[in-house]
Amino acid sequence: MSQHFDAIVVGAGAAGLLCAARIGQGGLRVALLDHSEKLAEKIRISGGGRCNFTNRVVTPDNFVSQNSRFARHALANFKPDDFIAMVQGHRIAFHEKHKGQLFCDRSSEDIIEMLVSECQGGKVQWYRPHSVSAIEHSEGRFTLQTTAGRLTTAKLVIATGGLPVPKIGATDFGLRIARQFGHKIIEPRPALVPMTFDSAVWEPYASLAGVALPVKSRGSEPKAPWFDEDLLFTHRGLSGPAVLQASSYWQPGQALHVNFSGHNSPELCLEAFKQAAVGTRAQFENWLAQQLPHVPRRLLESWLVLPQFAELRGRKVAEFGKKQLQPLVQALAGFGVVPSGTEGYRKAEVMRGGVDTAFLNPKKMESTLLPGLFFIGEVVDVTGWLGGYNFQWAWASGVLAAQAILKT
Ligand code: FAD
Repeated sequence: MSQHFDAIVVGAGAAGLLCAARIGQGGLRVALLDHSEKLAEKIRISGGGRCNFTNRVVTPDNFVSQNSRFARHALANFKPDDFIAMVQGHRIAFHEKHKGQLFCDRSSEDIIEMLVSECQGGKVQWYRPHSVSAIEHSEGRFTLQTTAGRLTTAKLVIATGGLPVPKIGATDFGLRIARQFGHKIIEPRPALVPMTFDSAVWEPYASLAGVALPVKSRGSEPKAPWFDEDLLFTHRGLSGPAVLQASSYWQPGQALHVNFSGHNSPELCLEAFKQAAVGTRAQFENWLAQQLPHVPRRLLESWLVLPQFAELRGRKVAEFGKKQLQPLVQALAGFGVVPSGTEGYRKAEVMRGGVDTAFLNPKKMESTLLPGLFFIGEVVDVTGWLGGYNFQWAWASGVLAAQAILKT
């Protein structure tokens, strides 16, 4: 005995819930299957429990992908305002934090309840917790062998997310299914992830754990942008939004760039320091503290004992020329450091890489190799910045796939 549906969505996370709801609301018979005991755990833990569910301004530039143009259609088709309208329609209170990031006032649970209620509106048939052991395709029909028996459909949506946080149910299921049907995978890697250093290298800085300050940060890739965010020292390395953002543009073995100076570039920093040094009676240590009001005292003190500043300590800054200021500026504004690695999928917020978009129709999220098969959300090689962009991608790609399924 098998059950037939117009569409089946595997993965009841952010993308799968909204996609299934829209398919059902459009009048099709849809099943939503997930193997986890708890529903939508990633939404629940997101944004520190308050879910940064979107950003007021979302453009394709806020995403990393082998094909930077791929996400354009989905993002233009379902905008942050569309999701905000749904949130408001469910009377969920929210607020804006910095840089357009929108969070629930109360709890991420509000977003989960909203999506469940949208699914109820679409009479979505739940299969949860259930898993899929095999998927076959023949004569335009997918057959899923599941712990709930055999399910069949002509439209199969894979929404099983990325690899981060395996302990709450992340698997490589979506990548395996993509490979099974001939799709290429862009090598997956942890992104939005803290960086680590060998313990011997980090030992002098480990006592700074907990120190945070605003910096400019940049990953190692040629197209990596600069981010203006906070950096956080940890026991094992560096974290905070500045490092998470830069990590998405970092290649192993290469340098992470941090500008601690408060100036936009080493050149501007040198100019400002030269002017501030003229005619001052201050001693180096006090003068440096005045130039860097945003740098916590503990961090400043750890810099002052570095050997490269030995000849500056205790001296009057008015005596300094370019020879003294240049290395100081280089250390503060042109700081490059090579992390030994990252905290991995255990701590990553998102996966970079995934199903190669070269095999997906950007106007439908449908496979170009196997019509009827759709990939949405994080399993696809589209990775957002920190700040609500990953959920906006999940909503937008889910809605686009639903619309495509409803049109056929
Ligand atoms: P998911 O939401 O991960 O859903 C995938 C679903 O598939 C899960 O329910 C899972 O149980 C199911 N599944 C997996 N494998 C199988 C299988 N084999 N069989 C059946 N079901 C399966 N993004 C933001 O935009 N804002 C934030 O505030 C934010 N905070 C985050 C905080 C943390 C700690 C983490 C880890 C991530 C955060 N993210 C945030 C990223 C965001 O959660 C994801 O990008 C988003 O959830 C991806 O949606 P998705 O539907 O593709 O996958």
